[in-house]
Amino acid sequence: MTIKATGSCLCGAVKYTTSTDFEFSGNCHCNTCKKATGGPFEVFAIIDEKSLHLTQGKGALVGYLISQKAKKHFCGTCGTPIFNQHKRAPGKLIVYVGSLDDPQCVTPAVNLHCENMLPWVADIASIKSFDKGFTK
Ligand SMILES: [Zn+2]
Ligand SMILES: [Zn+2]
Repeated sequence: MTIKATGSCLCGAVKYTTSTDFEFSGNCHCNTCKKATGGPFEVFAIIDEKSLHLTQGKGALVGYLISQKAKKHFCGTCGTPIFNQHKRAPGKLIVYVGSLDDPQCVTPAVNLHCENMLPWVADIASIKSFDKGFTK
C-alpha cells in the first residue's frame, strides 16, 4: 500500500498513514472550530475513512460529541485533535491538518464561516515575521 502522508499527535501515542491524496481542504472560521482547535480557525482536509490507517494508538484516541452531527477524535494523553466525523460527510474523515507530519502536503482551497473570521487573519502575512522564534 502506498503511503501518501503520515500524521501523529504531540506525544507520539497516535500515529496514522494515508493511502490516497486528500479530497479537499479548507479553513473553517466558525466559533466551534476555534474551540475545537484552540486556534483562530481550523484547517481541515477530507479523506475517505478507508484511506486513513491508524498504525498506533487506537486505544489512545478519545471521542467527543461536538454536536448531534459531529464527533471529534483526539489523543487522550496530549490532546492533539486528529480528525472529526460528521453526519453530513458519511464515510469521510475530516482531518486536522496540524496533525499531519508534513502539513505542507495540503493547501486549503476555501474559507468557510467567514462571518466569524477574526479581523486580523487576512493580514497575517503582512505583519512583522521571523523565520524562527521571536528575536529582539
Ligand atoms: Zn498524544
Ligand atoms: Zn467550523
